[in-house]
Amino acid sequence: MAKAPRGERLIISIVGRRNTGKSSLINALVGQAIAIVSEEAGTTTDAVAKSYELLPLGPVTLYDTAGIDDRGELGDKRVKATERVLFRSDIVVMVIDETGITPKDQEILELLETLKIPLLVVFNKSDLAEVKPKDIKYCVDQGWPWQNVSTAKSSGIKELKDKLAHLAPLEYRQDRVLAGDLIKAGDVVLLIAPIDSAAPKGRLILPQVQILREILDNDAVGMIVKEREIEAALAGLAKLPDLVITDSQVVLKVDGDIPAEVPMTTFSILFARYKGDLDVLLDGVKKIDELADGDKILIAENCSHNVQCDDIGRVKIPRWLLQYTGRKLDFEVSTGHDFPEDLENYALILHCGGCMIGQTEMQRRIREAERRGVPITNYGLTISKLQGVLARTVKPLGYEISER
Ligand code: SF4
Repeated sequence: MAKAPRGERLIISIVGRRNTGKSSLINALVGQAIAIVSEEAGTTTDAVAKSYELLPLGPVTLYDTAGIDDRGELGDKRVKATERVLFRSDIVVMVIDETGITPKDQEILELLETLKIPLLVVFNKSDLAEVKPKDIKYCVDQGWPWQNVSTAKSSGIKELKDKLAHLAPLEYRQDRVLAGDLIKAGDVVLLIAPIDSAAPKGRLILPQVQILREILDNDAVGMIVKEREIEAALAGLAKLPDLVITDSQVVLKVDGDIPAEVPMTTFSILFARYKGDLDVLLDGVKKIDELADGDKILIAENCSHNVQCDDIGRVKIPRWLLQYTGRKLDFEVSTGHDFPEDLENYALILHCGGCMIGQTEMQRRIREAERRGVPITNYGLTISKLQGVLARTVKPLGYEISER
């Protein structure tokens, strides 16, 4: 079986006080001994990641975390490492032992609640003691699903897996469309795709291909032109297009060329909705109007050495942003799967389109930024905002916003 890319795997973190049986719970879940199990408290020193195919969930990464109640200098480091893992987790399993929910457990549960991570409470070692009714009531009152499990007797494991599957984020369970919901049968959809030196040789890029397919699936008519042929395209049509979708880089020209009554959006805004959370990214783009001198901006790219993104993210957007805000801003670039450790020091994250990563990873990065309290938006929304066309480009998606 092909290995799922790292970003596409569901990340489940197992947390709890020391010696509640976290490692043996993982072993019971995956049916093999991969985590160190010891009767001595605090054996698992760092968050240990292991990847599995875990039915009915599919590919998952399980993090066996250090005891979150650890003490001492080394313990503090372990707790910090655990928190970093939590920021990017899709689901957290909180393991409680036969003593029931202690005040320390309550503290951890409250912390997890503030991180807004889907949470499942596991009452482990149920062979040693029944789950206390007051603990069940506490979980029910908080709206947390729970499961009693005995890793020693392998009971409750199937039920636990089913509950985990229900907690998986929506993007694992739902097929989304890029533009299909905006297109009716018989519509004419005009796509604008500049073919410059940065365009790949001999082919269209994925969002263009995907939208052309959705046009066909909806029995609509698709037409694709470069920005220089817009006039010729409009002249050749018997009516105005029902929808125009353009590359962000030429959005200002297209805004001028396409009559104002025609709904218009960009490939990257559609992609942001498809892959990410457009509400959060739109909130993030508003932050541009509040930037102050000295603010640090993180340019976050998923891969390095992409000529087109290098130019947009490192040259054009910083230049436009400085002109638009009139502020002295510091720009730093990060590439790869992980945000910098000091993410909280940034005023805003400007994320690339994420064309090389799936929905799951993009959503996870947005959630991590949210949990760490840092506004996040993406290149496409930023370009529309800086060019003064954001209100028009998000309107077809049902958003009414006002420009500065
Ligand atoms: S993931 Fe796509 S948009 Fe992001 S840096 Fe790589 S090529 Fe550019």
